[in-house]
Amino acid sequence: MGGTFSFPQISLPEMLRDSAERFSGRPAISFYHVTLTYEQVWWMVQRAAVGLAAAGVRKGDRVAIMLPNCPHYVIAYYAVLAVGGVVVQVNPMYTGAELEHLLVDADPKVIVAYEPLWGKVEAVWEKTHLERAYLVQFPGPVQTPATERVQPVEALLGAQGDPPSVAISPEDTAVLQYTGGTTGYSKGAMLTHRNLVANVHQSLADFRDGLRDGEEVILLVLPLFHVYGMTVGMNLGIAVGANLVMLPRFQLDEVLDAIKTAKPTMFPGVPTMYVAVNSHPKAREYGIDSIRICNSGSAPLPVEVLRAFEEKTGGKILEGYGLTEASPVTHTNPYHGVRKIGSIGLPVAGTEARIVDVATGLQELPPGEPGELVVRGPQVMKGYWNRPEETAQVLRDGWLHTGDIATRDDDGYYYIVDRKKDMIIASGFNVYPREVEEVLYTHPGIQEAAVVGVPDPYRGETVKAYVVCKPGVTLTRDEVIAFCRERMAHYKAPTEVEFREELPKSSVGKILRRALRDSQQ
Ligand code: AMP
Repeated sequence: MGGTFSFPQISLPEMLRDSAERFSGRPAISFYHVTLTYEQVWWMVQRAAVGLAAAGVRKGDRVAIMLPNCPHYVIAYYAVLAVGGVVVQVNPMYTGAELEHLLVDADPKVIVAYEPLWGKVEAVWEKTHLERAYLVQFPGPVQTPATERVQPVEALLGAQGDPPSVAISPEDTAVLQYTGGTTGYSKGAMLTHRNLVANVHQSLADFRDGLRDGEEVILLVLPLFHVYGMTVGMNLGIAVGANLVMLPRFQLDEVLDAIKTAKPTMFPGVPTMYVAVNSHPKAREYGIDSIRICNSGSAPLPVEVLRAFEEKTGGKILEGYGLTEASPVTHTNPYHGVRKIGSIGLPVAGTEARIVDVATGLQELPPGEPGELVVRGPQVMKGYWNRPEETAQVLRDGWLHTGDIATRDDDGYYYIVDRKKDMIIASGFNVYPREVEEVLYTHPGIQEAAVVGVPDPYRGETVKAYVVCKPGVTLTRDEVIAFCRERMAHYKAPTEVEFREELPKSSVGKILRRALRDSQQ
């Protein structure tokens, strides 16, 4: 930990070039029936860089990418960076006002978009300063007629000539990664080349001896527009010369088939993916136990879900933690060494972490006491794009205030209690939804659960549980409440229960408590 950690002071395109030299003929990307080698990817990145430069993209210009996982994602991403541009990551599910906000705020000159999404971009085009769109379609060619403004991505890849030579400093912003604020619209975290290269090497340091150069196969179903898929899937994979086996969406059967045929060695996932695998009656038959590293991050992994997954599949999950503003990884359970179930593990290499008093944000608290988790390290963002005040709120003396309540044990392992803003105050008592959810997950009939605070005339706020039952199971409100009351202080137990067929999830698969709260009104 701390100051001894060193990593290459290079830009992301230099990292890819280095891998293209070391792993030239090895597969870099597999997507359905297409496989591209490292050499081919690098060649296509250079072509696209020439094309982007010809389209007027200069150092510091923003270029939006709005694609599902596919080879063009990787190519567009690295080509933008190779001309000194800044990648603006756009969630392909965005639409209308949220898309307009992002495209106005980040102000990209060019967008690379999936053709079926073109209508959504076109609808807000006039509000932006976009000059050009390049469309991607798979399988098969783009159908939209080419104009000056809209062209198929092949127009970029067909560019002739030498790529421009642009000096890129590791301190330059590489990516604007949008993240939901606690209020209002999302803001762009400025992640530099240094942040992103550092985070790859910080994650790798923990898997030391666990990942072998040129031999890994990473199943990449996490979306690349999300910081976790970008760093722990794409960039980390490229650094070690892995084959990135991509899927554009999480469909359980497709994922299990890919595991059977591609035999991945690493799977970065989120808890809801593990819940889905657990629900499959024959999960063990797909060879999940050959995956050496299953990561879980982005949201709490209920202990029961980990246990059930490991029992059913023979796989092993390493839980970690991170956030957009930290590129994202700050903690993980080590690959070698002690794994503590229910914990997010230890700070990754070169990362300092503290638990501080929530009210002041200053005073450091002793082991066992919950407080706000703050972190410092080379992966921490430069700030929010064009938002100095919000930056000053979360970045203080280099320390990133995560907004998460956590504790640390005597061995230095960290545990996320919950998000500061999700804490429920019921009759004056603090209730952390996660603690209640952990108990709900231990119920044999419950598949998924989420807990939120709802207004209550007597208690101020009360605890409400949203529950998805396992197929074929029926439960009543009273059964759920009684189950909880037997296992926790009464003030924590839900007083309201609502059964749902499914829970609202973000595109990366996080259960959206906010959407549940909003559905109350
Ligand atoms: P994002 O910036 O969208 O990646 O979200 C980051 C947030 O996800 C963190 O601030 C945490 O609240 C949550 N998170 C990430 N990993 C974990 C984890 N392992 N356990 C609990 N919460 C997590």
